[in-house]
Order: sequence, then C-alpha cells, then structure tokens
Amino acid sequence: MSKRVIIIGSGLGGISAAISLAQEGYDVTIHEKNAKIGGKLNVLNAQGYTFDLGPSILTLPHLFERLFERSGKKMADYIPIRALRPHWRNFFEDGKVVDLDPDPKVMAAEAQKVGEDPKNVESFLKYSADLYDLVNAGYFEKGLDNATAFREFYGLSKFLKFDLFRSMHGGVKKHLKTRHMQDIFDYFIKYVGSSAYHSPAFMNCMATIQFRYDLWYVDGGLYNIALGLQRLMDELGVKICLNSSVTSITKENGKVTGIVTADGSQHPADIIVSNMEVIPAYEKLLQEDDELMKSLEKYEPSCSGLVLELGLDRKYPQLAHHNFFFSDHQKEHFHTVFRKRQLPPDPTIYLVAASRTDPTVAPEGCDCLKILPHIPHIDDENPLTHEDYMAFKDRVLDKLERMGLTDLRKHVVFEHCWTPLDIREQYGSNKGSIYGVVSDRFKNLAFKAPKQSTKYPNLFFVGGSVNPGGGMPMVVLCGQNVAKSVVAWDKS
Ligand SMILES: Cc1cc2nc3c(=O)[nH]c(=O)nc-3n(C[C@H](O)[C@H](O)[C@H](O)COP(=O)(O)OP(=O)(O)OC[C@H]3O[C@@H](n4cnc5c(N)ncnc54)[C@H](O)[C@@H]3O)c2cc1C
Repeated sequence: MSKRVIIIGSGLGGISAAISLAQEGYDVTIHEKNAKIGGKLNVLNAQGYTFDLGPSILTLPHLFERLFERSGKKMADYIPIRALRPHWRNFFEDGKVVDLDPDPKVMAAEAQKVGEDPKNVESFLKYSADLYDLVNAGYFEKGLDNATAFREFYGLSKFLKFDLFRSMHGGVKKHLKTRHMQDIFDYFIKYVGSSAYHSPAFMNCMATIQFRYDLWYVDGGLYNIALGLQRLMDELGVKICLNSSVTSITKENGKVTGIVTADGSQHPADIIVSNMEVIPAYEKLLQEDDELMKSLEKYEPSCSGLVLELGLDRKYPQLAHHNFFFSDHQKEHFHTVFRKRQLPPDPTIYLVAASRTDPTVAPEGCDCLKILPHIPHIDDENPLTHEDYMAFKDRVLDKLERMGLTDLRKHVVFEHCWTPLDIREQYGSNKGSIYGVVSDRFKNLAFKAPKQSTKYPNLFFVGGSVNPGGGMPMVVLCGQNVAKSVVAWDKS
C-alpha cells in the first residue's frame, strides 16, 4: 500500500510537492484552509475587472514545465504563456522614463536615456549571469539546505565567487554608475521582498532570471496557473480538502503521526509536508518550546505589502503592463521598511496594468490596476493601525497622481485593498510576510529554514520560508526538491 502524505496548504509550493510526490507513487491529500487552491496565487473578479491579488510576474517557466514533463504532458496544453515587452517601465520623480528590455540593442538605448554607458549594463548582466550559474548549480538545483552541504558542493574556491563581502547594492554600484540604473537593478530584490542594502551581493543573480529566461504572462490572469495545476493534480489522483484548516499536528515517539482539522477530525499520515510557514507551524500546530522558537528567529519574515486594486473608467496609455514608480530616496525607502519598520514617506511603487496587453481583464477602454508598495511586516508589539495604512495609501495615490496618473482618484469605479493584517489572516503567513523569509546578509546570509524538520524526521516544509525561498518559481522548485528529500529519507 502507498504511504500516506498529508500536505498542509495548497500554495504553489504545496501543489508542486503534491504533484511530485504523487508522481513518485505516494497517496497524497492536501488540506487547505481557504475555499480555493493557490494560496498567494490568488484572483479577484469584480464588476468586469480581473485582478491578480498575488503574483503578476511569471519567471523561469521551465521549472513549472518539469511538473508536466514528469507525467508525459506539455505545460502549454494546461497553461499557455507568452513573453512580455517591455519587461518593466520605470518612472522617476525627475520625469525620466526607462524601459527594461532583454534585447541588448533596446536596452542600450534605454540606458543612454539616463546617461548610463551601455557597456556598464552589459558588464552588470555578465556579473549577474555568473552569479546565477553559481547559485543555480547547487543552491537551486541540488536543493542545498545547510552550510555543510554548501561547503561540500562548492568547496572554498567557488564559495569565494559568491561576492560575499558586498551587499546587493554594492554589486550593482560596482558596475552601474547612474542613480537611475542603480535604483532599477537594486529593485530586483522586490522578487524576494528584501532590501538591496541588506541582502548579499549574490542576490544580483535575479536580473539573469529575467534577462536570460524572459518575463511571462498567462492570458486571463496568473490564477490560470493554479487552474492548470489543479487539472494535473486531478489526473494524478491528488485529493484536495478545501475549507479544511489544520489546527494541530499530532506526534509520538519523536515522529509526527497526523493532523487534526478545525472540525475536530483526526487524519493519520506517514509523512507530513507543511506549506504553512515554518515559524507559525512550529508555534501553532506543534506548540514547540521557547528554545526551538528562539533558534528560528534568524528566519525573519520578508516585507509585507499594501495590496491595492483599482478598477478605472479610463486608460492611462503611458503605462506598460508592469511599471515601477521609484522613490526619490531609495536607500531611505529600504532603511525605513527593513530597519525602522515604518511606513515609508516616499515609497517605491509597483503597479500592474494587465489590461495593457490582455483585453479580457477590464471593460473596453478601461484599466485595471494592481498597486503594490512594499511595507514592513507586522510588528505585534508596535502595531500600525488601519488609519496608518489608509494614510499611507493616500501617500501612494498622491505620488502616482504627481508622477503622471493625473486625477487617478476621480476615475476609480472599483476599489479593493488589503493591509498586512488581511494578508496574515488570508494565508496564515508569518507577520503578514508576502515572500516568506527575508534575505539579509547579517541575519541569515539569505538562507531560509531547511526543508526537513530538525526535530521530527517525517515532517517536511515547502514554500517561501524554506530554501531557496519565496517567489513562484522558487517555491515550485522547492516542491520538487522536497519530494526528492522525502523519497531519499523514506528509502534510507
Ligand atoms: C501581493 C503579492 C505579489 C507577489 N508578486 C509575485 C510575482 O509577481 N512573482 C512571483 O514569482 N511571486 C510573487 N509573489 C510571491 C509568491 O506569490 C509566493 O512566493 C508564493 O506564491 C508562495 O507560495 P507558498 O508555497 O510559499 O505558499 P502560500 O502561497 O503562502 O500558501 C500557503 C497556503 O497554506 C494555507 N494554510 C496556511 N495555514 C494553514 C492551515 N493551518 N491549514 C490549512 N491550510 C493552511 C494557506 O491558506 C495558503 O493557501 C507575490 C506575493 C504577493 C502576496
């Protein structure tokens, strides 16, 4: 008889682990507290508008493709995707506008708009590509989880190539000389909700994720990724229990034995994979003692966000599909969010106008905007109030109106807004984090928690709080790597 695996949570990491374990012959059941699968990969349909409530940028689709290939299928038959041009449009307070484009000729012309020598961009991208190849070979693909595994795989000579003595911003500054280009490439750190000034230089590998492997969109909205994966799970016989909140994990003789759900029912399991983040799972589901919880403090949450959706009765033609409105004081922005833990006076704002390339997501002649400034995770000892968040929302709208979205407020016909408190409530994430664990060279050197519990050998974790961390492709890779760890442990 197949061994029973219970997966707690149906975020993309949980789904990827479920598919990978079902492909290995395990009997897999997911328990998801919400009414639909996907976790932060979420959608809102209202008044003819379709908003991606969570992720809106798809990268590294070949990592998703592997889930289908292993079942002899093609991802294109489940999730059709297409590349976007430009990748992003960047707006600055001085009126300059620069596009990011993977075509070297286009990129060179864009760099010259702000006085950057195109050769600097080329040398930065070469530096980024070398870092990507290094990080990808071991940390990503082999699923390395701790310092010993790292040392064994890389050895001292390769270890030194990680540019360990610089911050991410330090690596950017070494190659790029204008403030505009530095701000843009620093902001690749948004993919993991951290600070370019506090994360290690090897995080500069992220530019290659986009420049070598492109930036993708799923027609109709990114939630179609969840729907495509749902079909694959159905074909593989993965069982999914929705509205099934897990309230505790049972344990006996140093092993986990099953789960209890909110309706009081018990569900035995041979192996448990928690897609609930590591810290809340140990705290709430396993009631671990202070000593264990203290050892996890270095896995501080990533930032949270104010997630604002606006349905408009007009279009703003200057917008691309993806846009960034930069803080005039980006260093201060990072410092305020990640060190002072305050709402930034002048935030950098990410704005998605999917209606620019997908006519199905808004009524004709209208834009649907998702606006996402990064803000601090919840500080339970000094909580911000709803009024604080709403005052911040006004600052965001002021900035957008000032930077060209004239009379934006007057054209809003639908509005939806989530604060970090809503995000925590919705997804059970640690302190409202949106990418899992922060990447910080001083706190954790960008390492996240290990995938296999250090206390219960048949308990595993998947998702943004374990290596290699947050972002859709990384948690999908994590699900595949966790399945390999389960199989290896099970055989041993
Ligand atoms: C606003 C926003 C924008 C983003 N933008 C991007 C982007 O453009 N590109 C990108 O790649 N990434 C982006 N991300 C990050 C990306 O969405 C996440 O890294 C990824 O989807 C997280 O997957 P996960 O496996 O960690 O699980 P999660 O999505 O965190 O899911 C965890 C699941 O577990 C469930 N759960 C928790 N506790 C329990 C319990 N006790 N019982 C049962 N179920 C439980 C939750 O309900 C949830 O469904 C964004 C995230 C947000 C929020």
